Amino acid sequence: MSNNVPHYMIIGGGITGLSAAFYLKKQMTENEASGGGPFRISVVEKSPSFGGKIHTIGHDGFVIEKGPDSFLARKRPIIDLAYDLGMENELTGTNPKAKKTYIVRGRKLHRMPPGLVLGIPTQMTPFMKTGLLSPLGKLRAAMDLILPKRDIAEDESLGHFLERRLGKEVLERIVEPLLAGIYAGDTYKLSLKSTFPQFRAMEQKNRSLILGMMASRKNVTEESAHLPAAVRNSVFVTFRRGLQSLVEGLVDALSTVDLRAGIGVVSVRRVAAGQTEVIFEDGHREVVDGVIVTTPTYQAAKLLSELPAASKLAKIDYISVANVIMAFDRKDIPFELDASGFLVPKHEGYTITACTLTSAKWLHAAPEGKVLLRCYIGRAGEQEWPAWSDEQLISKARQDIGDLLGITAEPSFVEVTRLMHSMPQYPVGHLEAIADFNKELTAAMPRVLVTGAGFHGVGLPDCIRQGKEAAKLLGDLVLR
Ligand code: FAD
Repeated sequence: MSNNVPHYMIIGGGITGLSAAFYLKKQMTENEASGGGPFRISVVEKSPSFGGKIHTIGHDGFVIEKGPDSFLARKRPIIDLAYDLGMENELTGTNPKAKKTYIVRGRKLHRMPPGLVLGIPTQMTPFMKTGLLSPLGKLRAAMDLILPKRDIAEDESLGHFLERRLGKEVLERIVEPLLAGIYAGDTYKLSLKSTFPQFRAMEQKNRSLILGMMASRKNVTEESAHLPAAVRNSVFVTFRRGLQSLVEGLVDALSTVDLRAGIGVVSVRRVAAGQTEVIFEDGHREVVDGVIVTTPTYQAAKLLSELPAASKLAKIDYISVANVIMAFDRKDIPFELDASGFLVPKHEGYTITACTLTSAKWLHAAPEGKVLLRCYIGRAGEQEWPAWSDEQLISKARQDIGDLLGITAEPSFVEVTRLMHSMPQYPVGHLEAIADFNKELTAAMPRVLVTGAGFHGVGLPDCIRQGKEAAKLLGDLVLR
């Protein structure tokens, strides 16, 4: 407490930390307006700028996302935040003329059958016609319609669950590459309960995953009712000036908050009931009245190393990924730009795991006559790439798009991004491990909360939700 004003500190200035600060400030300001006392909030970010994984750059009229590029429109927290910041008119949807997606199989691009939702078929005719699967593979997937549900309370891996319901072929050739885009993970190691709890709920409710998914599609209109009209028909949405504009919107809204970038925290320790000492890289210490840690879990484990349960956080693995973003002249692209991109399953003999035709998917991403492409490299089991130079990454990405798309022209510019230890892998039993961690944390340091992408959802909307929930918990705790 400084000058008797309660001081709350948020560690980590990514989307989770900034959202936590925004909603904590909102609650504290409302409390102050209704007769409560003044307060102070600080956000401490180790790197020189805010936003964490979010990083948009502008280049000659291109809007280039080096981290996340969009989010699922049906997830409310990010849309609510856009409204809270007065930025709802900046939302934009995908190009309706580039809805197709492809998957590589046998060194060729196959159209993803229409009606797949998270890789689960909701229309059987196109699914049965696809060249991606063998007749036996299709038959095995259709068995989901008659297989009994499994009544088990424990967690299981996403891979085992999907193989059990739809068979190995659908898992390996369609679902895994699709979901790998979100987690870059090994589905046989990822927790079903933590990654796709809705799959499990569908099995319990509808017995069949396919029938459950078909039933859930009927609610789509309801789910998009909260969206501004301009983006109501888009599954994915982003901000037309890039996701960085959301970060800028948050930073502007936090103008009365003490925002500190370029200084890391090294330790968070209890000093007295309700009082926590935060120790900084430069050695200085501050005693504060509440803390929300939003760093990746391997960092949080270090900050809280005095707490035995922190070892549970240290066990969460993170995968490293790289992006090679390339710009071309339209004349150098030998095909129609009517697709958003393609996915590459494991064992197809390519380095890239996916390629987004960014400027076809997002019309704001490139100036007229130019094309922007984004290739992804790295996933669980394919982690040798950090030893490669940028030139090697570029050369492998160019070789793959040359082979698959026939693009042989020299790109007009290339951006390589290395996102080291950036994709958390929730292991089987993750929810239980996090619950145990939180129990011990609350008992030892009731006014310290730890949250973010390593906990309950990696997508931007989930991170915002988690930041907001942590802010509410801390706010309620200190104001009661
Ligand atoms: P971070 O963004 O990691 O922020 C944590 C912050 O803590 C960082 O800024 C870090 O510098 C700081 N920090 C670390 N240690 C310390 C310390 N000791 N002291 C102070 N500060 C510290 N999600 C989507 O919804 N859509 C997408 O399209 C999408 N694409 C993605 C593509 C890639 C390549 C990656 C890696 C992720 C993607 N995601 C996507 C996921 C999403 O971007 C992240 O889960 C989310 O941004 C994480 O936010 P966060 O605030 O929890 O963590």
